[in-house]
Amino acid sequence: MSKARLRIAVIGAGIGGLAAAVALSRADCDVTVFEQAGGLREVGAGLHLGSNGARILHRWGLGSRLNSVGVRAAALEVRHWQNGRVLTQQTMGATWEKRFGSPYYTVHRADLHRILAEQLGGARLRLGSRLIGLNEEEDSVRLRFADGDSAQADVVVGADGVNSVVRGNVTQSGAKVFSGNSAFRGLVPADSIPDLPTKTLLIWPGPEAKLLLCPVSGGSAWAFVAVVPDSGRHPESWSATGRVEEVAAALAGWNVDVDGILGAITEVGCWPLFDREPLSRWSNGRVTLLGDAAHPMLPHHGQGASQAIEDAVALAHCLTRPEGPQQRDLPGDSSPLTEGLLRYEALRRPHTARVQLGSRDGGTMRLSTASPPDSVAGQGQAPLGQMVEDVSWIQAYDVEEALGKPVDADGPASGF
Ligand code: FAD
Repeated sequence: MSKARLRIAVIGAGIGGLAAAVALSRADCDVTVFEQAGGLREVGAGLHLGSNGARILHRWGLGSRLNSVGVRAAALEVRHWQNGRVLTQQTMGATWEKRFGSPYYTVHRADLHRILAEQLGGARLRLGSRLIGLNEEEDSVRLRFADGDSAQADVVVGADGVNSVVRGNVTQSGAKVFSGNSAFRGLVPADSIPDLPTKTLLIWPGPEAKLLLCPVSGGSAWAFVAVVPDSGRHPESWSATGRVEEVAAALAGWNVDVDGILGAITEVGCWPLFDREPLSRWSNGRVTLLGDAAHPMLPHHGQGASQAIEDAVALAHCLTRPEGPQQRDLPGDSSPLTEGLLRYEALRRPHTARVQLGSRDGGTMRLSTASPPDSVAGQGQAPLGQMVEDVSWIQAYDVEEALGKPVDADGPASGF
């Protein structure tokens, strides 16, 4: 007699929720994704997909889709905010791919989202379903939605983002922390600033603000993010708009390339940079968390999407395979399902906490040009080299290896 398939409700169809649905369906679970939005719209701007996240998507056979919409970074360049000179450069491309075993992509969030949505296979997607509550019953969980509907599942995965409703059922810990900065972000057409090197991640660290530019949409657009000190007056929302004048004021008097970027901006989103303290737990009975719901992080390591994708792989593995490296640390009276969730959490919580805390002062936040322009060139190299070394353990991480899973089990490990 065949065993009944595990019914899994994933709350949220962001990149984390969709990746979870793909991974769980591939592991033969019966998956339904509940998303509050009425449609899967084109939302967001540039997103970094590190080698650690990209290697999973390559194993899922999505390398050619990624190559068509994303850009494989060839170099990372730091430029002087005032005179525009290249201060220091880090080669990426083949060197990076050889070192970390997979490409580093910059991609429009909507493109990555679409690629994952195309892979849902047998998983169902219920749009316009805003979760408002859940109750664990004897051998299942009952979900309640704002439209009066309800549903039942064996396991619930809260992939409902930074303001997760599911998280309240798991823990009250994880106070919100404002970083003192807001990020103004958006897109400019590549042909509006033709003098900049293509396939290059560009950073201008200014005395206070920092500007980052990365190519997206197959190189036809640049995504910009200006990280600007702020009192936190903007609402915390991915869809909040900012004013072009606010960005222009923060970058006034910078160099001619930055002027070109400012001149091409027509719309800008404003994203106050909050994160949370690492949570003390992710799971409660049959309910667990994934992605930003579990570990909202500042963007300075560019790891929000990649960590969510790693979570998805770990969750599917721990729920569907009985053995695992963390098993011996578990309480003796757990059921196989809750044991699986605890194994997932035991692998992912310490790892993501390290990424989360490292993101606070890591990445571009390490680069500073507070010193006079002429002394900056000499100072640029060490912080950039250090910045790359800071993230090398994250980029090199292979979640399937950590799970003890044969890394070629699901298809070609690379194919890039
Ligand atoms: P999210 O991407 O936040 O997805 C959570 C999903 O859950 C959303 O679709 C939300 O509508 C849904 N949801 C929330 N509450 C409920 C509920 N009660 N019931 C049902 N569904 C619910 N990162 C970047 O680096 N650059 C960007 O430009 C960028 N833009 C973004 C735009 C949007 C609109 C969002 C939501 C996120 C954006 N991010 C961006 C963040 C990035 O996508 C995430 O950090 C990363 O992908 C991990 O995502 P996640 O799936 O865990 O959470």
